[in-house]
Amino acid sequence: MADSEAIVPFLDLSLQFQPLKAEIVMALASIFESTSFVMGPAVEEFEQAFASYCGAKHCVSLNSGTAALHLALLAMNVGPGDEVITPANSFIATAEAISFCGATPRLVDVDETATIDVSRIEAAINEKTKVILPVHLYGQPADMDGVNALAKAHGLAVLDDACQAHGAMYKGKRIGTLGNATCFSFYPGKNLGAAGDGGAVVTNDDAIAEKVRLLRNHGSVKKYHHEMIGHNFRLDSIQAAILKIKLAHLDEWNEQRRQIAARYDEHIGGLSGITGPVTAHGRQPVFHLYVIEAMQREVVEKVLREENISYGIHYPVPIHRQPAYAFLAQSVGSFPRTEMLAERIVSLPIYPGLTIEQQDRVLRALEKAASLVAAI
Ligand SMILES: *Cc1c(COP(=O)(O)O)cnc(C)c1O
Repeated sequence: MADSEAIVPFLDLSLQFQPLKAEIVMALASIFESTSFVMGPAVEEFEQAFASYCGAKHCVSLNSGTAALHLALLAMNVGPGDEVITPANSFIATAEAISFCGATPRLVDVDETATIDVSRIEAAINEKTKVILPVHLYGQPADMDGVNALAKAHGLAVLDDACQAHGAMYKGKRIGTLGNATCFSFYPGKNLGAAGDGGAVVTNDDAIAEKVRLLRNHGSVKKYHHEMIGHNFRLDSIQAAILKIKLAHLDEWNEQRRQIAARYDEHIGGLSGITGPVTAHGRQPVFHLYVIEAMQREVVEKVLREENISYGIHYPVPIHRQPAYAFLAQSVGSFPRTEMLAERIVSLPIYPGLTIEQQDRVLRALEKAASLVAAI
């Protein structure tokens, strides 16, 4: 009785912290003692660990995922007048990074996996196109073979946004080496999260890594000597130390997310009016989010609220419907699948430490919503 009244949180990051508390506190103390707060050894250690986790040659850490996207695009020489192809269904940062370079996002719709619909890319390519920027949204790997084949045929670069996909696999390969460069966010709620903002560009391309390294630190190789006009986009040593400790647990945490997703899938399969996420063959997602589609979303939302289950909507307004991107002048119906998702999607609680009991409460609420919908 008491349990059914307790809130099922959408995310509870304190669960990750407790078992790592002693290790994190020690690491932080050693940074305070060394006073190496900026670009200290902890940063390099994390970069090496994350590059090796991804099976990539370089990891250049940054102070956010948005900064990672921005600098990776600059390193690919994206500038004013250029276009970058990216899905309409994403967090706005993907498009913002393109705009920060002076370029224009060229949006395309998504497929049933909620990632870029490769069959729609070719029609969006023109003489201004520089880069294709797929997003592994919700932790679902996008069709990288499809994207890479088109990029090759048209002489374009590929930057993939893995801000929600740390550790995801595509045809047996870890996300991080499939495009020319891959961007990650370490925002606290991401599958690998810092105690604040953080991000990284991962790549096998020496030139991209070198240019991102320069751009993140005022364009300087040597202090007070500046090769180009850069930024201050460095990752703090404190964040790097925390990320290195957490990285050792990422696979185990992702496996827990997949187990919860499998339980959700099994039950949701039988409910009318609700469908679970679609994973394409050969791709192993990491379920940053578990997003269902509900024909009658208002009923599902109402029941979840009544049952004290927190949920999210990722995202309620597609990029082309945002006031910030009104200038793209995309009419309603331009991206039908994206627009339908914005009306139907609900993100359910999914994270390491979410108990079987809590998962059952989520599933019972969905059953209740499905039976209410069936009775309408
Ligand atoms: C979180 C996120 C970003 C931006 O990352 P920040 O670290 O918050 O700047 C970019 N793209 C996607 C898909 C994201 O989920």
